[in-house]
Amino acid sequence: MLERQTKGLINIDPLQTGGKLTEEAKKALIEWGDGYSVCDYCTGRLEEIKSPPIYDFIHKTLPDFLGCDVVRITTGAREAKFAVMHSLAKKDAWIVLDSNAHYSSYISAERAGLNIAEVPNSGYPDFLITPEKFGEVVEEAGKKGEVVLALITYPDGNYGNLPKVRKIARLCQDYDVPLLVNAAYAIGRMPVKLKEIGADFIVGSGHKSMASSGPIGVLGMKSEWEEKILRKSSRFKNKEIELLGCTARGVSIMTMIASFPSVKERVKNWDEEVEKARYFSSRMEELSIIQLGEKPHNHDLMFFHAENLYDISKKMRDGRFFLYKELKRRCIHGIKPGLTRFFKLSTYGLSKEEIEIVLRAFREIIDIKKI
Ligand SMILES: *Cc1c(COP(=O)(O)O)cnc(C)c1O
Repeated sequence: MLERQTKGLINIDPLQTGGKLTEEAKKALIEWGDGYSVCDYCTGRLEEIKSPPIYDFIHKTLPDFLGCDVVRITTGAREAKFAVMHSLAKKDAWIVLDSNAHYSSYISAERAGLNIAEVPNSGYPDFLITPEKFGEVVEEAGKKGEVVLALITYPDGNYGNLPKVRKIARLCQDYDVPLLVNAAYAIGRMPVKLKEIGADFIVGSGHKSMASSGPIGVLGMKSEWEEKILRKSSRFKNKEIELLGCTARGVSIMTMIASFPSVKERVKNWDEEVEKARYFSSRMEELSIIQLGEKPHNHDLMFFHAENLYDISKKMRDGRFFLYKELKRRCIHGIKPGLTRFFKLSTYGLSKEEIEIVLRAFREIIDIKKI
């Protein structure tokens, strides 16, 4: 059997905490698992399928949820970003992005042939991206060539920092540069709406934050971009070029639809998730494990600096793998094997009891040196 080894463990891997399937999605996974299952009644376009109810989901439910005019499903956040970048790219043009951006933002820009101007962060220990720096880099890049797009990561996947995105959107508007908000770690976890931010595009990841099996992403935009991004093939009149005609043509979208009612509800509990994260962070700091990034923190993804665990690792037989092994022994999974000094984790969706179990584990592991 292909059995998953991490079954039953407390999972604190930021990549995975928001993508766990709901019971409804697990049922959908079986029901719609066949290849091309959603295409039974397709007339040529995914978002026009009425049975299963994909039409309503893409044309009504998601635009409401994301606060935008037009939505498309993609195969992931990266495909959504690439679709926008590729549509807007021109010869010798530039993209401005924050230096906390995900690797897939850089790669999408590379694939689209854009020059990249990076907004530096404030460095250790906060790693903040400020609107002031963002504006400076947009201005500087504008002197070198045309800036066709700016991208802000909200929050970033390293520190879980939430930059002042409205201010950045206003700045970009002043420079007449469209802004894409990469909300792969936000949509499905916390309230976020494109119209309230005042940006042009918003991108989310179903398997990261919307309790979907994936790979699947969402792309929302203002109506003024529809014609440009969703332009159609000259040969196949109803197929959108940038989406290569079709995207999530199977079970991935069914898991997203099945989980959506729960996802919509859980977003309302965001304040509690932030409270839990802050509590966790303060307890870790009592163990001299320092939380980097914004403080007090505003997201469940947290990055820690543990000089003490690093020192212990030098004396342990398992070396730098000791932390992973000690956590696993205590039924906790999610910190990358080999990391001790710097690591990230997420408390998203953990119960208070589970949080205490994780904290106790760190306390015990730090006490190992006294044995
Ligand atoms: C995880 C992540 C992505 C990648 O999402 P996919 O849907 O797997 O393409 C992109 N950006 C950020 C900030 C992420 O955290």
